[in-house]
Amino acid sequence: MKSNKIAILGYPIKHTLSPKMHNYWLKELGISGKYQAIKTPIKNFKKTIKKLCNEGYKGVNLTLPLKEEALKYLNKKDRIVDFVGATNVLIFSKQNVIEGKNTDVYGFKKSLIKLVKNKKRKTAIIIGSGGAARAVLCALIEMRYKKIIIFNRTKKNAEKIKKDFIKNFSSNLKIKIVCENLKNLKRNLEEIDLLVNTTPMGMKNFPPLNINIKKFKTNLAVFDLVYNPLETKLIKDSKKWGIKNTNGLDMLMYQAQRSFYYWLNKKPKVTNKLKKILEKEIK
Ligand code: NAP
Repeated sequence: MKSNKIAILGYPIKHTLSPKMHNYWLKELGISGKYQAIKTPIKNFKKTIKKLCNEGYKGVNLTLPLKEEALKYLNKKDRIVDFVGATNVLIFSKQNVIEGKNTDVYGFKKSLIKLVKNKKRKTAIIIGSGGAARAVLCALIEMRYKKIIIFNRTKKNAEKIKKDFIKNFSSNLKIKIVCENLKNLKRNLEEIDLLVNTTPMGMKNFPPLNINIKKFKTNLAVFDLVYNPLETKLIKDSKKWGIKNTNGLDMLMYQAQRSFYYWLNKKPKVTNKLKKILEKEIK
């Protein structure tokens, strides 16, 4: 039986959870193959993907600092990759065609549906304006949120997202996108249904996100993309005030599930058992 070869490329790559997830699924589904972590600084990227294509790899996941760099080498990509400006999945074909996908939009959407079961999707806040914020914005628009406020340390980066979104998608969307400086986050929070942190704040070695969520209305849900630590201050505060919340671990698993499907045409299961395995790795 042919053995399937897949990998994640990035630098540093030591702490990635992706091999754990994908090798677990390969084994569970009885698919022959291996998912490796390959240390790849930017300067080695071109030569590495060429080598892996020639060796018959199905494709790769990409992490820091390669998600944007990879755009230069794509033969095929979709609108989401264009807008997000980053690809986290490469699919290699036999003719050495490299297709780029972004599965963060799918990952976020799946985990948000798990968190927010009701259909009351009016106003959402996104904190941050990087690649992850762009993926979250795509998902929230697909889910028909009516007003989205983007708070960012550098307001002009938030304004750039709004401009790019209108250029890439539609200028006559029935949605309001508002950009604000992060310093103003403390006010006007009563009418919010969802708050999403897409910055690294709260992550190991970063300061916590400094907001006072107790003032929020009870219907609020909080989504922190950070998953290491499993409980940031934002998540701890949400728990304290009885606010629905999730960290970024579900999103991580669902983006991986979609990547796996792109390479092997099989949809593995996201289960509590797998989540427990990953949580143990993080702790
Ligand atoms: P990025 O492109 O580098 O963007 C980072 C954003 O955070 C920028 O808007 C930046 O603001 C802001 N920021 C950074 N440090 C800050 C600080 N000290 N104070 C205030 N704002 C700060 O990164 P990204 O790719 O979007 O990823 C962001 C986070 O999401 C990372 O922690 C990543 O691990 C996480 N993530 C999780 C998943 C998942 O599956 N759970 C998926 C993707 C990403 P400026 O614009 O002012 O620079």
